[in-house]
Amino acid sequence: MEKRIWLSPPHMGGTEMSYIQQAFDTNWIAPVGANVDAFEKQIEEFMGCGHVAALSSGTAALHLALVLLGVTRGDFVICQSLTFAASANPIFYQGATPVFVDSEPLTWNICPDALESAIKHCVRKGKKPKAIIIVHLYGMPARMDEIITLCHHHDIPLIEDAAEALGSAYKGQKAGSLCKFGIFSFNGNKILTTSGGGALWSADQTAIQKAKFLATQARDPAPHYAHSVTGYNYSLSNICAGIGRGQMQVLEDRIAQRRANYTFYQQTFSTLARLQFQNEPPECFSNRWLTALTLDFQQTGISPQTIIAALECKNIESRHLWKPMHMQPLFKDAPYFGGTIAGDLFRSGICLPSGSSLAEDDLQRVTQVITNLFA
Ligand SMILES: *Cc1c(COP(=O)(O)O)cnc(C)c1O
Repeated sequence: MEKRIWLSPPHMGGTEMSYIQQAFDTNWIAPVGANVDAFEKQIEEFMGCGHVAALSSGTAALHLALVLLGVTRGDFVICQSLTFAASANPIFYQGATPVFVDSEPLTWNICPDALESAIKHCVRKGKKPKAIIIVHLYGMPARMDEIITLCHHHDIPLIEDAAEALGSAYKGQKAGSLCKFGIFSFNGNKILTTSGGGALWSADQTAIQKAKFLATQARDPAPHYAHSVTGYNYSLSNICAGIGRGQMQVLEDRIAQRRANYTFYQQTFSTLARLQFQNEPPECFSNRWLTALTLDFQQTGISPQTIIAALECKNIESRHLWKPMHMQPLFKDAPYFGGTIAGDLFRSGICLPSGSSLAEDDLQRVTQVITNLFA
Protein backbone atom coordinates (compact mmCIF):
# COMPACT_ATOMS: atom_id res chain seq x y z
CA MET A 1 0.00 0.00 0.00
CA GLU A 2 1.29 3.45 -0.87
CA LYS A 3 1.78 5.92 1.97
CA ARG A 4 -1.37 7.52 3.40
CA ILE A 5 -2.32 10.94 2.06
CA TRP A 6 -4.22 12.80 4.79
CA LEU A 7 -6.81 15.50 4.25
CA SER A 8 -4.95 18.20 6.17
CA PRO A 9 -2.12 16.96 8.40
CA PRO A 10 0.01 19.11 10.75
CA HIS A 11 3.05 20.69 9.07
CA MET A 12 5.75 21.84 11.44
CA GLY A 13 8.05 24.70 10.50
CA GLY A 14 11.18 23.62 12.38
CA THR A 15 11.53 26.04 15.30
CA GLU A 16 8.59 24.78 17.37
CA MET A 17 10.74 22.49 19.58
CA SER A 18 13.06 25.34 20.56
CA TYR A 19 10.13 27.27 22.07
CA ILE A 20 8.90 24.14 23.85
CA GLN A 21 12.44 23.70 25.17
CA GLN A 22 12.39 27.29 26.49
CA ALA A 23 9.19 26.49 28.38
CA PHE A 24 10.92 23.47 29.95
CA ASP A 25 14.12 25.41 30.68
CA THR A 26 12.18 28.11 32.53
CA ASN A 27 9.75 25.56 34.06
CA TRP A 28 6.70 27.40 32.71
CA ILE A 29 4.77 24.17 32.14
CA ALA A 30 1.52 26.03 32.70
CA PRO A 31 -1.35 27.80 30.99
CA VAL A 32 0.58 31.09 31.28
CA GLY A 33 4.08 32.10 30.27
CA ALA A 34 6.35 33.78 27.75
CA ASN A 35 5.21 31.63 24.83
CA VAL A 36 1.56 32.55 25.39
CA ASP A 37 2.39 36.29 25.51
CA ALA A 38 4.65 36.12 22.44
CA PHE A 39 2.15 34.03 20.45
CA GLU A 40 -0.63 36.54 21.14
CA LYS A 41 1.67 39.39 19.99
CA GLN A 42 2.51 37.52 16.77
CA ILE A 43 -1.15 37.05 15.94
CA GLU A 44 -1.89 40.72 16.70
CA GLU A 45 0.93 41.80 14.40
CA PHE A 46 -0.24 39.42 11.69
CA MET A 47 -3.80 40.74 11.90
CA GLY A 48 -2.47 44.28 11.70
CA CYS A 49 -4.88 45.64 14.31
CA GLY A 50 -6.78 44.78 17.47
CA HIS A 51 -6.09 42.51 20.43
CA VAL A 52 -5.88 38.74 20.90
CA ALA A 53 -6.48 36.22 23.67
CA ALA A 54 -4.87 32.82 23.05
CA LEU A 55 -7.27 30.11 24.22
CA SER A 56 -7.56 26.35 24.55
CA SER A 57 -9.74 25.96 21.41
CA GLY A 58 -11.70 27.77 18.76
CA THR A 59 -14.86 26.51 20.44
CA ALA A 60 -13.79 28.17 23.71
CA ALA A 61 -13.16 31.42 21.81
CA LEU A 62 -16.65 31.32 20.32
CA HIS A 63 -18.17 30.54 23.72
CA LEU A 64 -16.41 33.51 25.34
CA ALA A 65 -17.55 35.80 22.51
CA LEU A 66 -21.16 34.82 23.26
CA VAL A 67 -20.62 35.33 27.01
CA LEU A 68 -19.08 38.77 26.37
CA LEU A 69 -22.05 39.74 24.20
CA GLY A 70 -24.36 38.85 27.09
CA VAL A 71 -26.05 35.91 25.35
CA THR A 72 -28.15 34.09 27.87
CA ARG A 73 -31.09 31.70 28.28
CA GLY A 74 -33.91 32.31 25.80
CA ASP A 75 -31.93 34.61 23.48
CA PHE A 76 -31.79 34.08 19.73
CA VAL A 77 -28.39 33.67 18.07
CA ILE A 78 -28.28 33.42 14.29
CA CYS A 79 -25.70 31.06 12.78
CA GLN A 80 -24.70 29.94 9.31
CA SER A 81 -26.09 26.43 8.78
CA LEU A 82 -23.36 25.05 6.50
CA THR A 83 -20.53 24.69 9.02
CA PHE A 84 -18.92 22.44 11.60
CA ALA A 85 -21.01 21.81 14.74
CA ALA A 86 -18.50 23.73 16.87
CA SER A 87 -19.84 26.98 15.34
CA ALA A 88 -23.25 26.33 16.90
CA ASN A 89 -22.63 24.27 20.06
CA PRO A 90 -21.67 27.29 22.22
CA ILE A 91 -25.15 28.75 21.57
CA PHE A 92 -26.52 25.79 23.54
CA TYR A 93 -23.86 26.22 26.25
CA GLN A 94 -25.56 29.57 26.97
CA GLY A 95 -29.05 28.07 26.85
CA ALA A 96 -29.87 30.26 23.84
CA THR A 97 -31.83 29.28 20.72
CA PRO A 98 -29.91 28.89 17.45
CA VAL A 99 -31.57 30.19 14.28
CA PHE A 100 -29.93 28.74 11.19
CA VAL A 101 -29.50 30.41 7.82
CA ASP A 102 -28.84 29.01 4.35
CA SER A 103 -25.78 29.70 2.17
CA GLU A 104 -25.51 31.65 -1.07
CA PRO A 105 -24.06 29.85 -4.09
CA LEU A 106 -21.06 32.10 -4.76
CA THR A 107 -18.95 31.75 -1.58
CA TRP A 108 -21.08 29.01 0.06
CA ASN A 109 -21.34 31.24 3.14
CA ILE A 110 -24.37 32.87 4.80
CA CYS A 111 -26.95 34.26 2.37
CA PRO A 112 -27.61 37.96 3.15
CA ASP A 113 -31.25 37.72 1.98
CA ALA A 114 -32.04 34.68 4.12
CA LEU A 115 -30.19 36.36 6.99
CA GLU A 116 -32.54 39.34 6.73
CA SER A 117 -35.56 37.01 6.88
CA ALA A 118 -34.12 35.35 9.99
CA ILE A 119 -33.54 38.71 11.71
CA LYS A 120 -37.11 39.81 10.91
CA HIS A 121 -38.50 36.53 12.25
CA CYS A 122 -36.73 37.04 15.59
CA VAL A 123 -37.89 40.66 15.79
CA ARG A 124 -41.50 39.55 15.08
CA LYS A 125 -41.13 37.03 17.92
CA GLY A 126 -40.34 40.00 20.14
CA LYS A 127 -36.58 39.45 20.48
CA LYS A 128 -33.84 40.90 18.34
CA PRO A 129 -31.01 38.34 17.93
CA LYS A 130 -28.23 38.89 20.48
CA ALA A 131 -25.50 37.89 18.01
CA ILE A 132 -24.88 36.60 14.51
CA ILE A 133 -22.22 33.98 13.80
CA ILE A 134 -20.95 33.93 10.25
CA VAL A 135 -18.38 31.46 8.93
CA HIS A 136 -15.63 31.80 6.33
CA LEU A 137 -15.99 28.25 5.09
CA TYR A 138 -12.81 26.41 4.05
CA GLY A 139 -11.09 29.81 4.20
CA MET A 140 -13.42 31.67 1.82
CA PRO A 141 -14.58 35.03 3.17
CA ALA A 142 -18.34 35.56 3.29
CA ARG A 143 -20.11 38.49 1.56
CA MET A 144 -19.08 40.92 4.25
CA ASP A 145 -20.29 44.23 2.79
CA GLU A 146 -23.91 43.09 2.56
CA ILE A 147 -23.77 41.26 5.90
CA ILE A 148 -22.18 44.17 7.81
CA THR A 149 -24.60 46.72 6.31
CA LEU A 150 -27.56 44.56 7.34
CA CYS A 151 -26.27 44.03 10.87
CA HIS A 152 -25.42 47.72 11.35
CA HIS A 153 -28.94 48.58 10.23
CA HIS A 154 -30.41 46.27 12.88
CA ASP A 155 -27.65 47.02 15.41
CA ILE A 156 -26.72 43.37 16.02
CA PRO A 157 -23.10 42.37 16.79
CA LEU A 158 -21.34 39.96 14.44
CA ILE A 159 -18.92 37.18 15.31
CA GLU A 160 -16.69 35.91 12.51
CA ASP A 161 -15.98 32.20 12.85
CA ALA A 162 -12.62 32.38 11.07
CA ALA A 163 -11.52 29.00 12.48
CA GLU A 164 -10.71 27.88 8.93
CA ALA A 165 -9.69 31.30 7.59
CA LEU A 166 -6.51 32.48 9.30
CA GLY A 167 -4.75 34.63 6.69
CA SER A 168 -7.77 35.05 4.42
CA ALA A 169 -8.87 38.60 3.61
CA TYR A 170 -11.82 40.62 2.39
CA LYS A 171 -11.03 43.80 0.45
CA GLY A 172 -7.53 43.63 1.90
CA GLN A 173 -8.65 43.35 5.54
CA LYS A 174 -7.85 40.13 7.40
CA ALA A 175 -10.75 37.72 7.97
CA GLY A 176 -11.58 37.69 11.66
CA SER A 177 -10.93 41.44 12.06
CA LEU A 178 -13.96 42.82 10.22
CA CYS A 179 -16.56 42.70 13.02
CA LYS A 180 -16.88 42.88 16.79
CA PHE A 181 -15.23 39.49 17.41
CA GLY A 182 -13.24 37.01 15.34
CA ILE A 183 -12.29 33.50 16.39
CA PHE A 184 -9.54 31.17 15.16
CA SER A 185 -8.81 27.48 15.69
CA PHE A 186 -5.38 25.87 15.93
CA ASN A 187 -6.65 22.29 16.00
CA GLY A 188 -4.54 19.54 14.46
CA ASN A 189 -5.87 19.82 10.92
CA LYS A 190 -6.12 23.61 10.61
CA ILE A 191 -3.70 25.72 8.55
CA LEU A 192 -1.72 26.48 11.72
CA THR A 193 -1.76 24.02 14.61
CA THR A 194 -0.79 24.14 18.27
CA SER A 195 -2.06 20.51 18.57
CA GLY A 196 -5.18 22.05 20.07
CA GLY A 197 -5.85 25.73 20.61
CA GLY A 198 -7.68 28.81 19.50
CA ALA A 199 -7.81 32.58 19.71
CA LEU A 200 -10.29 35.40 20.16
CA TRP A 201 -9.70 38.69 18.31
CA SER A 202 -11.35 42.05 18.94
CA ALA A 203 -10.56 45.71 18.32
CA ASP A 204 -11.98 46.27 21.81
CA GLN A 205 -9.08 45.91 24.26
CA THR A 206 -11.38 45.86 27.29
CA ALA A 207 -13.31 42.94 25.80
CA ILE A 208 -10.09 40.96 25.26
CA GLN A 209 -8.94 41.71 28.83
CA LYS A 210 -12.31 40.46 30.05
CA ALA A 211 -11.95 37.33 27.88
CA LYS A 212 -8.60 36.58 29.53
CA PHE A 213 -10.15 37.14 32.95
CA LEU A 214 -13.03 34.76 32.18
CA ALA A 215 -10.66 32.19 30.64
CA THR A 216 -8.65 31.98 33.87
CA GLN A 217 -11.53 31.23 36.30
CA ALA A 218 -12.60 34.87 36.73
CA ARG A 219 -10.62 35.64 39.88
CA ASP A 220 -11.45 39.06 41.26
CA PRO A 221 -8.48 41.24 42.29
CA ALA A 222 -8.26 40.31 45.97
CA PRO A 223 -5.57 38.74 48.20
CA HIS A 224 -7.82 35.67 48.68
CA TYR A 225 -9.78 33.71 46.08
CA ALA A 226 -12.80 35.93 45.31
CA HIS A 227 -15.31 35.30 42.55
CA SER A 228 -18.34 37.26 41.43
CA VAL A 229 -18.98 35.79 37.95
CA THR A 230 -18.72 32.31 36.42
CA GLY A 231 -15.24 31.62 35.10
CA TYR A 232 -13.80 29.08 32.70
CA ASN A 233 -10.52 27.24 32.30
CA TYR A 234 -9.97 28.18 28.67
CA SER A 235 -6.41 29.47 28.47
CA LEU A 236 -3.77 28.03 26.15
CA SER A 237 -0.92 25.99 27.56
CA ASN A 238 2.53 27.59 27.39
CA ILE A 239 3.75 24.37 25.71
CA CYS A 240 1.12 24.58 22.96
CA ALA A 241 1.79 28.30 22.51
CA GLY A 242 5.43 27.36 21.84
CA ILE A 243 4.25 25.30 18.86
CA GLY A 244 2.19 28.29 17.76
CA ARG A 245 5.22 30.62 17.84
CA GLY A 246 7.07 28.38 15.41
CA GLN A 247 3.99 27.93 13.23
CA MET A 248 3.41 31.67 12.90
CA GLN A 249 6.86 32.05 11.34
CA VAL A 250 5.84 29.89 8.37
CA LEU A 251 2.18 30.90 8.04
CA GLU A 252 2.64 32.90 4.82
CA ASP A 253 4.38 29.88 3.21
CA ARG A 254 1.57 27.59 4.33
CA ILE A 255 -1.04 29.85 2.75
CA ALA A 256 0.93 29.97 -0.50
CA GLN A 257 1.27 26.16 -0.48
CA ARG A 258 -2.46 25.60 0.08
CA ARG A 259 -3.33 28.06 -2.65
CA ALA A 260 -0.92 26.21 -4.96
CA ASN A 261 -2.77 22.93 -4.18
CA TYR A 262 -6.00 24.59 -5.25
CA THR A 263 -4.44 25.88 -8.49
CA PHE A 264 -3.05 22.43 -9.28
CA TYR A 265 -6.46 20.76 -8.82
CA GLN A 266 -8.25 23.50 -10.69
CA GLN A 267 -5.90 23.32 -13.67
CA THR A 268 -5.81 19.53 -13.78
CA PHE A 269 -9.61 19.32 -13.73
CA SER A 270 -10.20 22.27 -16.05
CA THR A 271 -11.39 19.93 -18.79
CA LEU A 272 -13.85 18.19 -16.46
CA ALA A 273 -16.52 20.84 -16.91
CA ARG A 274 -18.90 19.32 -14.38
CA LEU A 275 -16.66 19.96 -11.41
CA GLN A 276 -17.35 23.30 -9.77
CA PHE A 277 -14.78 24.74 -7.37
CA GLN A 278 -15.63 27.06 -4.48
CA ASN A 279 -15.38 30.52 -6.07
CA GLU A 280 -13.04 33.27 -4.99
CA PRO A 281 -14.79 36.55 -5.83
CA PRO A 282 -12.47 39.48 -6.71
CA GLU A 283 -12.92 41.13 -3.30
CA CYS A 284 -11.95 37.90 -1.48
CA PHE A 285 -8.62 36.26 -0.73
CA SER A 286 -8.94 32.69 0.57
CA ASN A 287 -6.18 30.82 2.41
CA ARG A 288 -7.64 27.76 0.62
CA TRP A 289 -7.50 25.75 3.84
CA LEU A 290 -9.30 22.98 1.99
CA THR A 291 -9.86 22.71 -1.74
CA ALA A 292 -13.57 21.97 -2.06
CA LEU A 293 -15.66 21.29 -5.13
CA THR A 294 -19.07 20.06 -6.17
CA LEU A 295 -20.06 17.71 -8.97
CA ASP A 296 -23.31 17.36 -10.83
CA PHE A 297 -24.54 13.80 -10.19
CA GLN A 298 -27.31 14.09 -12.80
CA GLN A 299 -24.78 14.73 -15.53
CA THR A 300 -21.80 12.68 -14.35
CA GLY A 301 -23.41 9.73 -12.57
CA ILE A 302 -20.57 10.13 -10.06
CA SER A 303 -21.36 10.98 -6.45
CA PRO A 304 -19.10 12.31 -3.70
CA GLN A 305 -19.34 8.85 -2.07
CA THR A 306 -17.92 7.26 -5.25
CA ILE A 307 -14.93 9.60 -5.27
CA ILE A 308 -14.31 9.29 -1.52
CA ALA A 309 -14.39 5.46 -1.79
CA ALA A 310 -12.12 5.42 -4.85
CA LEU A 311 -9.60 7.66 -3.09
CA GLU A 312 -9.79 5.53 0.08
CA CYS A 313 -8.93 2.45 -2.01
CA LYS A 314 -5.66 4.21 -2.84
CA ASN A 315 -5.10 5.14 0.82
CA ILE A 316 -6.11 8.77 0.30
CA GLU A 317 -8.30 10.64 2.78
CA SER A 318 -11.01 12.99 1.51
CA ARG A 319 -14.36 14.01 3.01
CA HIS A 320 -17.85 15.33 2.44
CA LEU A 321 -18.67 18.99 2.90
CA TRP A 322 -20.03 19.80 6.37
CA LYS A 323 -23.55 18.50 6.87
CA PRO A 324 -25.70 21.60 7.52
CA MET A 325 -26.77 22.21 11.11
CA HIS A 326 -30.48 22.44 10.23
CA MET A 327 -30.22 18.82 8.99
CA GLN A 328 -28.66 17.55 12.23
CA PRO A 329 -30.77 15.68 14.83
CA LEU A 330 -29.20 17.85 17.55
CA PHE A 331 -30.73 21.01 16.06
CA LYS A 332 -34.00 19.58 14.69
CA ASP A 333 -36.12 22.06 16.68
CA ALA A 334 -34.15 25.14 15.62
CA PRO A 335 -35.74 27.57 13.11
CA TYR A 336 -34.16 27.64 9.65
CA PHE A 337 -34.31 30.33 6.97
CA GLY A 338 -33.46 29.94 3.31
CA GLY A 339 -33.76 27.25 0.68
CA THR A 340 -31.84 24.16 -0.36
CA ILE A 341 -28.44 25.61 -1.22
CA ALA A 342 -26.60 24.40 1.90
CA GLY A 343 -28.23 20.97 1.56
CA ASP A 344 -27.40 20.78 -2.16
CA LEU A 345 -23.78 21.73 -1.49
CA PHE A 346 -23.59 19.03 1.19
CA ARG A 347 -25.01 16.37 -1.14
CA SER A 348 -22.79 17.26 -4.11
CA GLY A 349 -19.54 18.42 -2.55
CA ILE A 350 -16.20 16.98 -1.48
CA CYS A 351 -13.01 18.26 0.13
CA LEU A 352 -9.76 17.06 -1.42
CA PRO A 353 -6.43 16.48 0.37
CA SER A 354 -5.15 20.00 0.97
CA GLY A 355 -2.17 19.78 3.32
CA SER A 356 0.64 22.28 2.87
CA SER A 357 3.16 19.40 2.88
CA LEU A 358 1.70 17.66 -0.19
CA ALA A 359 4.32 16.96 -2.85
CA GLU A 360 3.57 17.16 -6.56
CA ASP A 361 3.61 13.32 -6.65
CA ASP A 362 0.93 13.22 -3.96
CA LEU A 363 -1.28 15.67 -5.84
CA GLN A 364 -0.87 13.60 -8.97
CA ARG A 365 -1.92 10.45 -7.10
CA VAL A 366 -5.11 12.24 -6.06
CA THR A 367 -5.98 13.70 -9.45
CA GLN A 368 -5.22 10.40 -11.23
CA VAL A 369 -7.91 8.57 -9.24
CA ILE A 370 -10.51 11.20 -10.08
CA THR A 371 -9.52 11.57 -13.74
CA ASN A 372 -9.83 7.76 -14.09
CA LEU A 373 -13.36 7.85 -12.67
CA PHE A 374 -14.38 10.38 -15.29
CA ALA A 375 -12.57 8.62 -18.18
C1 LIG B 1 -12.40 23.73 13.69
C2 LIG B 1 -13.58 24.62 13.70
C3 LIG B 1 -14.09 25.15 14.89
C4 LIG B 1 -13.66 24.70 16.25
O1 LIG B 1 -12.37 24.88 16.58
P1 LIG B 1 -11.70 23.96 17.73
O2 LIG B 1 -10.37 24.61 17.93
O3 LIG B 1 -11.60 22.58 17.17
O4 LIG B 1 -12.56 24.03 18.93
C5 LIG B 1 -15.14 26.05 14.82
N1 LIG B 1 -15.67 26.40 13.65
C6 LIG B 1 -15.24 25.91 12.49
C7 LIG B 1 -15.88 26.35 11.22
C8 LIG B 1 -14.19 24.97 12.47
O5 LIG B 1 -13.78 24.45 11.31
